[in-house]
Amino acid sequence: MSESANMNGSGEVLLEVRDLKMHFPVTRGILIQRQVGSIRAVDGLDFDLIKGETLGLVGESGCGKSTTGRAILQLHRPTAGSVRFEGVELTETSGPDLRQMRRRMQMIFQDPYASLNPRMTVGSIVGEPLDVHQLGNSKTDRQERVRELLEIVGLNPYFVNRYPHEFSGGQRQRIGVARALAVNPSFIVCDEPISALDVSIQAQVINLLEDLQRELQLTYLFIAHDLSVVRHISDRIAVMYLGKIVELAERTELYENPRHPYTEALLSAVPVPDPVVEAKRQRIILEGDVPNPASPPTGCNFSTRCPKAMDRCFQEEPEFRDVGDGHYAACFLNEE
Ligand code: SF4
Repeated sequence: MSESANMNGSGEVLLEVRDLKMHFPVTRGILIQRQVGSIRAVDGLDFDLIKGETLGLVGESGCGKSTTGRAILQLHRPTAGSVRFEGVELTETSGPDLRQMRRRMQMIFQDPYASLNPRMTVGSIVGEPLDVHQLGNSKTDRQERVRELLEIVGLNPYFVNRYPHEFSGGQRQRIGVARALAVNPSFIVCDEPISALDVSIQAQVINLLEDLQRELQLTYLFIAHDLSVVRHISDRIAVMYLGKIVELAERTELYENPRHPYTEALLSAVPVPDPVVEAKRQRIILEGDVPNPASPPTGCNFSTRCPKAMDRCFQEEPEFRDVGDGHYAACFLNEE
C-alpha cells in the first residue's frame, strides 16, 4: 500500500496489518527433506480495522482468508510483515505477553460440530478460557460467569452440565460465541461462522453477533466465501484472490460500484431479492481454476481467469491503490 496508512476513513485504528505474508514451505525428499518452493497462502496484505467495525473478508476457498485470520492472531507466525493490535507489535510478542494479548483477540470457528470437545460439558467448554487465563477468583465466580455468558448468547444457563451433542447446530455456534466472549475480547475473527448452519439459522447467528457487537463494542473480521453473507453484517468489505486483497471498499460502494473484475464476478453470483432485477441478472462465469499458490501467475494474479485481461496484465502487477474516497483496487482498468 503506497498511500494513507488508514485505509478506512475515520475512527480509531484497533488493528494495523502491513505487508502480511504467510508462506508455507514445499519440501521434497524422503530421508533428507529439502525445500523446493513455497505456497504463498497470504502474500502481502495491507489493511486497518477501526474500533467497533466489521470488515468482511471474502474469497473462494483456498484464497488465504482463514490463514489471514490465524496469522493476525499469531496462531500461525507470519513469514513477514507487521500486525499491530492496540499499538502492540504482535509479530515480536511471545510467551506471557502474547498470552495476555490473546485475551483481547478471539476466534469463532466455522464448524460448531468439530470445534467443541464432545467429551466436555458446556460449562467446561465455556469456562476453559477463564482457567487458561486465570480469571475468576473462585469456583463460584467461574460458575456465575459461565451462566452469565450462556445467557448473553441466548442459551438457558441451566444447560451448563449438558454435552455438545445435545444441542442443535445454531445452539452449538452460540456455545462457541460464549467461549470466545469469556475473556472479554475487543476483537473477534469470525471464520465462516455460519457456513455450516442451515439457512434458517444463519440469520439468527448474524443477529446475535450484531447485538453483541453493539453491547460489547466488539470489532470483527468476518470471513466468508461469498458476498451475499457479508453484505448485511459488514461496514467495509475486502475481496481476496490468491493470497492478495484485490479490492477493499465501504459496503454499499463495493456492491454498487465494483472496481475489480473478480469482485464483479462474485457479485454476479449473488441473488437479488427483486424478481424483475433477478430475472435480468447475468452471471459472469470465470473460466479455469484458481492457480496454484505455489506458482502464481506473473503480472496480475487474476490474469489467467480475468475476462478483461490485456497484454500488460500478464507482465506487470497492478498496484493496490486508492481509486477514490477510500475505495482501493488492484486493476489497470482503473488507470484509464
Ligand atoms: Fe483483469 Fe488486468 Fe485488471 Fe488484472 S489488471 S483484474 S487481469 S484487467
